[in-house]
Amino acid sequence: MIRVGYARNGGANRMICRICTNGKGLKTLRVRRAQYVRCPICRCMSVNPYPRRELNQAFQGLEIVERLEKEDIKRKGYFGRRLARLESRLGEDYRGARLFEVGCGAGILLQEAWQRGWQADAIELSVELAARARINNPAATVITGDIQHQEPTGTPYDAIISLDVLEHVLVPMTMIENCRELLKPGGLLLLQTPNTRSLRSRVKGAKWDMLDPDQHLNLFSPDALHVLLTTVGFEVLEMTTASGTGLERGPASWSARVKESLLGLLNLGNAMVVVARRPL
Ligand SMILES: [Zn+2]
Repeated sequence: MIRVGYARNGGANRMICRICTNGKGLKTLRVRRAQYVRCPICRCMSVNPYPRRELNQAFQGLEIVERLEKEDIKRKGYFGRRLARLESRLGEDYRGARLFEVGCGAGILLQEAWQRGWQADAIELSVELAARARINNPAATVITGDIQHQEPTGTPYDAIISLDVLEHVLVPMTMIENCRELLKPGGLLLLQTPNTRSLRSRVKGAKWDMLDPDQHLNLFSPDALHVLLTTVGFEVLEMTTASGTGLERGPASWSARVKESLLGLLNLGNAMVVVARRPL
């Protein structure tokens, strides 16, 4: 069982890793006015002190919605490459298969999924982004809400995809448990989240761009992500690293792709992409 928060020991706060429950050798790293705690065993990092309740991280405002939508339109190829990871596992069977996206933004990945033959639905925290996702995907069911509070409803899904969401949620285990309940047995989960073991994290230390205490509550290493998924009962099928944001263009795009391939060989990319399966 993964413990959340920090245990009290003889009246003093004793820090325990939020993912692997290790209580020894945790180090703090100061980032601007906040701190992260780093576990020497699983290498995850969690903000400290940890918020007691959900932060409101929903994007709001027309300007932000339109900016995110425009950015995501430029990332369609990048989204397609992530979807292809699920498609290659399902073979031709993926056409007509049911996909659920956690954190769909303006629904551009959903559009790409429908165009590729999926029947795709989603959940999105931001009321305004969810509304935009519905306009962009009239055939999809887009729930406004938080995956941590989402009860499974209706027919289970064949696959779930969630890019750059896990690091934001208050209780990652609850998100993963709810993903499991939304999937049919044998269903696939693809997650993308920053990699604390990336080359950039190692070189930049406290200046690593993913260290954002207001947004990124937990940052994972490959080991920590493996612990999280297997504790909830998933079987990890593949874990690779990735670089870039999908927004690079021209020579920068090629350079990002080459860098991604090279760093990927060494598992040093700035993000991890994992595909896991709910056992039959
Ligand atoms: Zn740990």
